[in-house]
Amino acid sequence: NTKSEYGKRMVFDDHDRQMMERRFLLTSVIRKALDDETFRIFYQPIYSFRNQSYTKAEALLRLYDENLGWITPDEFIPIAEEQGLIHDLGLYVLEHVCRKLVDRKKKGLPPVGIHINVSTVQFSKNGFFASFMEIIDRYGIDPSQIVMEVTESIMIQSFDFIMAIMKRFIDRGVCFSLDDFGTGYSSLNYIAALPISSIKLDKSFIDRSEKSDVYALLIKNVVEIARGLKIELIVEGVETTGQVKTLTKIGCEAMQGYYFSKPLPETELDNFFYQDISR
Ligand code: C2E
Ligand code: CA
Ligand code: CA
Ligand code: CA
Repeated sequence: NTKSEYGKRMVFDDHDRQMMERRFLLTSVIRKALDDETFRIFYQPIYSFRNQSYTKAEALLRLYDENLGWITPDEFIPIAEEQGLIHDLGLYVLEHVCRKLVDRKKKGLPPVGIHINVSTVQFSKNGFFASFMEIIDRYGIDPSQIVMEVTESIMIQSFDFIMAIMKRFIDRGVCFSLDDFGTGYSSLNYIAALPISSIKLDKSFIDRSEKSDVYALLIKNVVEIARGLKIELIVEGVETTGQVKTLTKIGCEAMQGYYFSKPLPETELDNFFYQDISR
């Protein structure tokens, strides 16, 4: 018995050490990728049934390392947050998105909206608003082309503090979207309290709705609540024709997922916008 307990401990410590080493390694990979500007941004088109086309896309970070291969944001974002690198990384994303928008403008292409994921940690930094707006203004971007995706974890900060920052952004035209909706606890509260213009319904909802009528009913109700509040609802992670049919029947107007398109490298994005795929 003692022996097996001892064995377990060893395994546990080994795992811990490996995790620490990986974290340490990734921290330096993140630093280097920031310095070398090798982070890439992929864009996943968001389909709007009202416009019968793609008028928006979500920017998603991609990181490739020669030795480690592709590293997923689910792994490197928490490390960047922990190591205080998320602030620079967040501004990096915005800067590259702005460059993309300027490039489109130069080509005479119609304006599009870009959703950017913003970590709760970024909000806590002094000067966040100023540094964000400085980039938008430097590129001469219309702020209403930028939508910041935030999760309900921003509510860990004081409500007044968060509201004050959001209001400053909104005054300039930047909008907010509540990401991963339905994964937390008091989401309905947050829809009512926060100045958001859209909600992203988490993939887990649409997945579970196929097996459970309760989830299908929940989606239907979220659609109605959103419509009542004049907030746009975007359903995430839509993968199948069946899901699109169900969601359309319920009255969902915006969707995103592999059914429409995977996240695309910048060069492939322009072909996607404003195409009519009414079917
Ligand atoms: P998220 O914001 O919820 O983004 C949606 C994730 O679902 C993306 O994963 C996307 O590639 C994936 N996805 C989209 N459609 C489908 C689908 O139909 N099926 C499936 N199975 N997956 C789908 P990704 O790109 O790996 O990003 C993971 C998370 O990392 C994001 O979740 C977001 O929280 C975070 N992230 C990504 N880029 C950034 C960034 O620039 N800043 C911050 N702070 N976080 C980011
Ligand atoms: Ca998101
Ligand atoms: Ca999400
Ligand atoms: Ca997510």
